[in-house]
Amino acid sequence: MQLSNFIRRVIFSTAFISTFLVFSISIIFQYINFENDKIHIREEFTQLKKDQIKREVLSVYNLIEQKEELLIKSEKEKLKERVGQANNLAMAIYNENKNTKSEDEIKLLIAKAINNINYETDKTYFFINSNKGQAIIFNKKIELDSYKDVWNLKDENNNLMVQSQSKIALENKEGFLINTFVKPDSKDTKQYSKISFVELFEPYDWHIGMGEYLDDIRAHAQDELLDFISTVRFSGDNYIFVNTVDSEILVFDGKRIVIPSTHPSKNLFHQQLVAAQNPDGGFFSYKFKKINTIKEFDKLSFVKKYEKYNWIVGCGVYLDEVENELIRKEAIFKETIIQQLIYMLIMFILISIGLYLTSRKISQFIDININYLISSFEKASKENKKIDTKNLTYKEFISLANDLNISLENKNETEKKLQDHIHIINENVIISSTNKEGLILDVSEAFCEISGYSKEELIGKSHKIVRHPDTSNKFYQEMWEKLLSGNIWKGEIRNKNKKGVDYWVYAIIKPIFENEEFIGFTAIRTNITNKKYIEHLSITDELTQLYNRRFFNSKIIEEINRAKRENNHFSFLIMDIDYFKQYNDTYGHQQGDLALEKVANILKERTNRASDFAFRLGGEEFGIITALDKIKVVEFANLIKNEIENLQIEHKASKISKYLTISIGIVSKENKDIPSSDELYKQADDCLYEAKNLGRNSIFIL
Ligand code: GH3
Ligand code: MG
Ligand code: MG
Repeated sequence: MQLSNFIRRVIFSTAFISTFLVFSISIIFQYINFENDKIHIREEFTQLKKDQIKREVLSVYNLIEQKEELLIKSEKEKLKERVGQANNLAMAIYNENKNTKSEDEIKLLIAKAINNINYETDKTYFFINSNKGQAIIFNKKIELDSYKDVWNLKDENNNLMVQSQSKIALENKEGFLINTFVKPDSKDTKQYSKISFVELFEPYDWHIGMGEYLDDIRAHAQDELLDFISTVRFSGDNYIFVNTVDSEILVFDGKRIVIPSTHPSKNLFHQQLVAAQNPDGGFFSYKFKKINTIKEFDKLSFVKKYEKYNWIVGCGVYLDEVENELIRKEAIFKETIIQQLIYMLIMFILISIGLYLTSRKISQFIDININYLISSFEKASKENKKIDTKNLTYKEFISLANDLNISLENKNETEKKLQDHIHIINENVIISSTNKEGLILDVSEAFCEISGYSKEELIGKSHKIVRHPDTSNKFYQEMWEKLLSGNIWKGEIRNKNKKGVDYWVYAIIKPIFENEEFIGFTAIRTNITNKKYIEHLSITDELTQLYNRRFFNSKIIEEINRAKRENNHFSFLIMDIDYFKQYNDTYGHQQGDLALEKVANILKERTNRASDFAFRLGGEEFGIITALDKIKVVEFANLIKNEIENLQIEHKASKISKYLTISIGIVSKENKDIPSSDELYKQADDCLYEAKNLGRNSIFIL
């Protein structure tokens, strides 16, 4: 992947991921907050609802209490007024009759008058007792004659009713009191709560009183209250319910219950009862259906007992409203989140575009630098041109370019040195390389110079082009064998240049392998022509061009050793021209030299085998070393002898022939019989002597 692309991708994806993470985390946090809020909202809502229902119940409770207070107040006023009127009436009767009638008569008159007062609208009635406990009017009956003693009369709550009334009358002249008492017109003997007013009637130490049964006066007010309560609604369908502590339902399910009914759920009622035991009221939870439905929901209610009526006033709220509220809030939350998401998406797109453009710009910038660097590198590697760091922006690239420039400088320097060396080598070292078929692929300048051929003439040819005709095939066969078996061949080669002039090289030829496969040769040569020439001079006789005596001295030892080593024949021939002194004398020294040359040429021609060597041993004496055996060497000697004679070099002074002749002494030995070189030479010389003695132009062999 391209570096700039990679960087761009990294920048873009990092920014993408981080932006995405930031947005996601923000939303996750909001969600967590919302979830926490939900608990909070639920608690708050429940608390709110609790407060609300408590408030509603308490306001109804206060209403009842107010109504009760008003009721009691007006009742008290009524009782006080009536008792006052009765007292005035009694006082009037007393005043009117006190002087005319007896006390008992007046008492009876008063009792009758008061007992006869009836109010059509209610069931109130007067009672009179003496402050010492004698009943005068008791239970709407005049008890004057019966002397009924009610002093110790107790009500349901063990209050000594008459004693209390007397006490009020005597101490305060008048006052209210509450107790329980039977209803005179009622068939049952049940005692009912009653409020009474008593006033002192001084003339007889009586107290006149009147009472009203609380349930009677409350009945109407309660009806009104319950009617009103049943209509109370708040926060939608929430209503107030009223039950008696005896489980009678008064306002139920938001309706006024007229026909006495007990609460349908014992359990629920029991819960109400328990909660209502708290004087400040209490909460309780349950499941209950909503108005006009049958489905039950979680409900929380507050109840407070109104002691005076034995009522339990309560109010409930459905907690699913909280859930509805939460659903509403959740919808708002979702809407907010969606809005945020849209906003974020827009932001994200904008940021992404921004990032994309920025990262593209950065990558373009990097690309420019990198491309410049790459093209500079290419130039540097192809053209050895230094990188211009001015066009690079980044420090790292500049330092890289500087490093490359340094190594380029080093490389150039090294290359220059190498080039110089190559040039020197090219000019001075004779190098060639060939393919495996031996066809020339490349040659050095020095090769061209020494061979006289141009590169073009050499390439594609084999080295045969410079092969000297005198070099044997065997020589090349051995060379090839060695090379093809993977070895280096070293040795001296005699070549011939384009003009046909000999030159000598010392060659090191090396086979080349590539992946273990033989692909060709390289050869490195040094020109040894001069050395060879000096060598040639040092071993060659100048006049005859045969090997000289010095070379003979070393060669004979060498060849004796070789023959012994290789278990070969060894033959040595010594030849001496007959009557040569006379020849010189006859034809002159110069002519003598010419004759020597001619004889030498015959010897040269006949010793072209690798194991044959011809020497001028001195003056007109010659020697031949050969590996021919005894029989063959005689043949060989005869051939030479005849050929020389057949040269028909006129020799008038010779006593044995018209022409120039030679005598030959031969020693031919085998292997261990070969003596030392000195001994051999002596024996050969002796044989020559014998050949001369034989009359010259002869051969003698040992
Ligand atoms: P013989 O048949 O016994 O050998 O008789 P000969 O005359 O050849 O006797 P010898 O071998 O003793 O004489 C050698 C002569 O060869 C002496 C000298 O004049 C002649 N000679 C030696 N070296 C040269 C040379 O380099 N050039 C010429 N022209 N003559 C030489
Ligand atoms: Mg001689
Ligand atoms: Mg001689």
